Amino acid sequence: MTTSVDVVVIGGGQAGLAAGYYLRRAGHRFVILDDQPTAGGAWPHTWPSLRLFSPAEYASLPGWPMPRWRDGFPPAQHVVDYLTAYETRYDLPIERPVRVNTVRRDGRALVVEAGTRQWRARRVISATGTWQRPFRPTYPGARIFTGRQLHTVDYRTPADFAGADVVVVGGGNSAAQLVAEISTTASTTWVTSRPPRFLPDGVDGRALFELASRRAAALATGQRDPGGIAALGDIVMVPEVLAARDRGAMTALPMFERLTRDGVAWGDLSRHADIVLWATGFRPALGHLTPLRLRDHTGTVPVSGARALKEPRLHLLGYGDWTGPGSATILGVGRSAKSAVAELDLDD
Ligand code: FAD
Repeated sequence: MTTSVDVVVIGGGQAGLAAGYYLRRAGHRFVILDDQPTAGGAWPHTWPSLRLFSPAEYASLPGWPMPRWRDGFPPAQHVVDYLTAYETRYDLPIERPVRVNTVRRDGRALVVEAGTRQWRARRVISATGTWQRPFRPTYPGARIFTGRQLHTVDYRTPADFAGADVVVVGGGNSAAQLVAEISTTASTTWVTSRPPRFLPDGVDGRALFELASRRAAALATGQRDPGGIAALGDIVMVPEVLAARDRGAMTALPMFERLTRDGVAWGDLSRHADIVLWATGFRPALGHLTPLRLRDHTGTVPVSGARALKEPRLHLLGYGDWTGPGSATILGVGRSAKSAVAELDLDD
């Protein structure tokens, strides 16, 4: 079955919804295809105690602010509830669950295929996020280690780790939050490939958004790129991380050199581990774009704004700063979505 539309948005997380908001406002005929059974993108899959690194009013999509959360930093379920209500509020045309397998060129159209169904679209916005591509670096000994190796995507609660020797790998926010939590029930070793860079206490998503805004303004007016958040630090001191630091749990060792049968090792030194938890990030989930052959050696798609350089009918949203400053955050993606929809050029 083939359906013709102006725009297909692939992915119904926050980035897809932000695109939907502006597409609706511009009066385009569009559909959002999402492979999950329910709303919320990646948020229903994160660990339940995860809290945003910004207050609700700094974590809103265009048009409708996220309802306030009583003590400032909302939990993941609050985001799921908000995204669910957002879809209804703006009556966004979302089809679920629809897993897009490929996007290919066919004359003047891009054809989006999902099983036996296909959509012919004049433009495609890809907003498939990163959660489905957890990244784990390769280290010697990974195959001989007899304990369990998990990734952030596998983590649910610290009770699952009670009494175990756990090594958490990674220097970002997820790793820091997991160390803070797991260290309450397990003997926890934190390893990072460079010393952890904590943001000053009190710098949260608000400051990060302001930084992203300054960067967007500089880039838009042709000024020198002032750099992103990376220049400031990596780890937001959310209350749980602050509390863990105060009890001395947030000290990191250098990255180990190898895994052994029953732990990890640096030269002659070793440490026992039942579990190695890789909090080592994600890569963009772009497998459906393979037929278009757009990716470069970094695994991303070169873009100008949000538009793919080698396929001007394709736009990318979310994923990381490479699709727009702050595009992979709830607040920042609104700005990227607005300019992506403005860039669509549907008049030709
Ligand atoms: P997603 O939420 O992943 O949505 C993409 C959707 O596309 C999903 O439903 C997915 O299943 C679907 N999909 C994927 N492939 C296909 C396909 N082929 N066909 C159809 N559908 C497909 N940001 C903040 O602003 N504040 C925070 O505090 C914050 N904390 C974070 C904590 C963690 C642990 C992580 C990982 C991220 C955090 N982020 C935060 C960053 C960001 O807001 C989230 O990653 C967010 O989920 C990104 O939204 P998205 O719409 O780009 O992708």
